[in-house]
Amino acid sequence: MGGRTSARAKELLAAARRVNAAATAAAIEPALEAVSLPVHQRLLLDAAGEATSSRTVFCRRRGGAVDVETCAGCSHAVSVPTPGERNAEVRCMTQKEVPHKRDASELAMRTYVGEVMRRRVACVRADASWEMLEDLLLDEDDDAVIVVDAHSRPIGTVSESDMLRYLRDQPPPDASPATMLERGFHVEPSRQAAHEIMTPVAQTMPESAPISFAIGLLAQKGFSHATVVGTDGGVVGVLSANDVVCWLAQRLGYER
Ligand code: SF4
Repeated sequence: MGGRTSARAKELLAAARRVNAAATAAAIEPALEAVSLPVHQRLLLDAAGEATSSRTVFCRRRGGAVDVETCAGCSHAVSVPTPGERNAEVRCMTQKEVPHKRDASELAMRTYVGEVMRRRVACVRADASWEMLEDLLLDEDDDAVIVVDAHSRPIGTVSESDMLRYLRDQPPPDASPATMLERGFHVEPSRQAAHEIMTPVAQTMPESAPISFAIGLLAQKGFSHATVVGTDGGVVGVLSANDVVCWLAQRLGYER
């Protein structure tokens, strides 16, 4: 009798330990849910206009940008987009959102720049032509084009304002009678390469910085946008004040 009781007690004790271990594991390992991560595209154009492109997502687990191909081999991936998909997203199992996320300041401290920055950034080399910059700013609807060195590190930005300022600051054409053109003709101002037009990069922003830091920087410095860099110092994106406003509006329940 005593032997049977003891065996039963051991069974109950083992069962209790299993329940306890599961509860402890659940407490340590936060609940996971599948979330959609926007794919960011970096286009790099050389002087001939040939483009190379990279696709990355901001990975919370790794604290930085990873190639979409890395996600394809990751056990946390639910689905990975095929090349060429528009508005592509990686579905990834990540930590479940907690209810107090609706507090804007708390949310801004727990959301990363790499999660809010725009999906696309266009980069050119320092010798990119005026026409290439014009095409990118007008046709592709980019706020700014990033000028990069051979390691994809930012050295400057070119916006429409930079191009207008450059034209305004050109010396006036020689108006001596010998060089005057007939009525209806004018001299085109000389148009230079990106490195002569750009505003040098004064400040970059790490992709793993909280968005609260970015809001402070944009507001204090009066920047309309900031260049976002990865751990190797290479450009991974651009964050504009408008991106932050859209992100906040979405969290407050306003759809675009
Ligand atoms: S799928 Fe893997 S590598 Fe990709 S974002 Fe999720 S955790 Fe990171």
